[in-house]
Amino acid sequence: MENEQNNDLHGNDKKNAKHKASMQKQKAKVDANIAAADIERGLIVLLTGNGKGKSSSAFGMLLRSLGYGHKVGVVQFIKGVQLSGEEIFIRDHLPQVYFQQMGTGFTWNTQDRSSDIAAAEATWAHAEKLLKDPAYNLVILDELTYMLAYQYLDEERVLNALQNRPREQTVVVTGRGGGSALREIADTVSDIDDVKHAFRAGVKARQGVDY
Ligand code: ATP
Ligand code: MG
Repeated sequence: MENEQNNDLHGNDKKNAKHKASMQKQKAKVDANIAAADIERGLIVLLTGNGKGKSSSAFGMLLRSLGYGHKVGVVQFIKGVQLSGEEIFIRDHLPQVYFQQMGTGFTWNTQDRSSDIAAAEATWAHAEKLLKDPAYNLVILDELTYMLAYQYLDEERVLNALQNRPREQTVVVTGRGGGSALREIADTVSDIDDVKHAFRAGVKARQGVDY
């Protein structure tokens, strides 16, 4: 009995020592990676893919940024029928956030392509203004990719504005697709996978979860 216990203890000691050694090794690796990443500049972050979580992740960054007192601007390139919780909260409680949404000129069904283009261009003018202003630490261009996919905005013009923004400014672009050139110039690209979505199982879109 005593022997069995001793063996158990011994086994645990061995496990603990192994765990400690592996953790130390991992820490050394992480520390080396942290030391190697010494460039300080703003980023282009692209949140794309078919899964849920692109816009909500961008708004998570907005919250992070505001925590440090940063100046943040949001331009949304599609206007949903349903108001989103973020939109309501920003309008009511965060007057310091620049918030602009594509006007009602946008049909989404592309019944009237020329009025869609006019709406896209008018909205893009707001984005361009933010992308030239070094006072903004974070600029979120929500659903911008669709404007490129539908060729409502000129790709070269958009990519130039993104690349020529102030050095310390981070820009977050969300939406599916958007083309390979955008993926190429982005510093961080997350392709969110659509493993499952409750909507397909018949669950209605929910307040605070989906909008
Ligand atoms: P979220 O705003 O929740 O982060 P998103 O920005 O990744 O979502 P969008 O394509 O902009 O996704 O769509 C917004 C809405 O569509 C949300 O209500 C979201 O739950 C829903 N949605 C996102 N992906 C899917 C999907 N694969 N199937 C069904 N509905 C989806
Ligand atoms: Mg979205």
